[in-house]
Amino acid sequence: MTPNNAISSDYEDGARIAALAEKYAGAVPRYTSYPTAVEFSDKTGVDHWKFELQQEFSCDAENTISLYIHIPFCKNHCFFCACNKTASRDPADVTRYLDAVKREIASYSALLGRPAAIEQIHWGGGTPNFLTPAEISSLHDAVVSAFGRVLPNAEISFEADPRTLTREHLATLAALGFNRLSLGIQDFSRPVQEAIGRVQPFELTQDIIAHSREQGLNNINVDLIYGLPLQDVSAFDATINQVLDLQPNRVALYGYAHVTWIKRTQLLLEKHHLPSPKERIALFCAALKRFTRAGYDYIGLDHFALPGDSLAAALREGKLNRTFMGYTTHKGSRLIALGASGISILPRILVQNSKDLDNYCRTMNSGEFAVERGVIRTGTDQQRAEIIDALLCQGRIDIRQFESRWQIGFADEFASALDALQPMVEDNLVRLRPGVLELTALGRLFARNAASAFDAYLDKARKNAAPVFSQAV
Ligand code: SF4
Repeated sequence: MTPNNAISSDYEDGARIAALAEKYAGAVPRYTSYPTAVEFSDKTGVDHWKFELQQEFSCDAENTISLYIHIPFCKNHCFFCACNKTASRDPADVTRYLDAVKREIASYSALLGRPAAIEQIHWGGGTPNFLTPAEISSLHDAVVSAFGRVLPNAEISFEADPRTLTREHLATLAALGFNRLSLGIQDFSRPVQEAIGRVQPFELTQDIIAHSREQGLNNINVDLIYGLPLQDVSAFDATINQVLDLQPNRVALYGYAHVTWIKRTQLLLEKHHLPSPKERIALFCAALKRFTRAGYDYIGLDHFALPGDSLAAALREGKLNRTFMGYTTHKGSRLIALGASGISILPRILVQNSKDLDNYCRTMNSGEFAVERGVIRTGTDQQRAEIIDALLCQGRIDIRQFESRWQIGFADEFASALDALQPMVEDNLVRLRPGVLELTALGRLFARNAASAFDAYLDKARKNAAPVFSQAV
């Protein structure tokens, strides 16, 4: 895929995009995994996980892994946020949690039995910089010494809340070898910031980025959100101008997920006007045009990157991957998630640790893994996961290659999915030509809808009493 095929006349027709946004505005998974976390159950647990992990690592000489470390504490609680986090301000809770994570690291090291090659470490939360620099150092050292060597080109990234990130934090991260900092911004408009309970002046963020780069932490990601209360295209354009001044290496432009049945605090946002599906897509398209015209490559769904960034290179080289961390640069990597609520991924299994902090710490202290639920991927699940991944990461699926690898007939096996895609073909969002199924430039905005045609669990999930997915656009 040519990254900047996003710069297309298709994006200029606002009325058509708005009509399509309305037509395809249903609730659809974000497909950070397939099957999605909705299909996890306690029928898949710690014994399955340990078995699959040992199988996976026993037959691979390279032993490469990616690691995710979840720090669930936040000093401030933003009203819009649906992350797994806690308000605890008791230092004893933090110490207990870090001890439990270190036990988990030691348990994995013992189970794997030999060093691994770490190709990616990502600290997320919550707010990882809720920890002191000394706590970060100690945990990072524990990870590296337990798992083995960090590959020279490994991406070591840290999510931070700029409001509480200090120069000492930045110096520590640089000294430890972190090479990417991910900063939440959401929107620089003061009325929007007040409505979402997160006031973060532009100058503060600018200062953090300048100090980060002075320390040699040059790769900066920023997160923005569209669909927040009080946003409109012209005010959001001012935020984009300010973001472009900061020249982040990557931009994630997430659609706000209003999931009040999961996060009651989001009800506070309903005091204000929440953008309609049409307004949301207008916000997204305006931002997409600004970023691509400013030289960013459109990576897919909600991500942009400067052409020199490793994510843009991964897209060009067909190595783009999608996990619970969003788009990543290592295709086919195995992900071990450490900490409460973390989701680990191997080709044949997905598992999640307990979300409950007490339960997570208690289980780890008892010497067992805190894996609570998951799903075993059948062969069909793996095929569908591969198709969904290809649509979201490459915007196309090479049908002949797929048929040869899996020894099946694509048209027969996925006849109902191809039927479900027919409206998108008629709307020129999906193109089916001999041997290739692909998204058009405009269709990339609706990639989740196209992927959902291959989701065998979606109908069942939609029949649930409670809604489970956010709006597609
Ligand atoms: S957005 Fe970040 S700082 Fe705010 S509540 Fe969520 S995890 Fe915490």
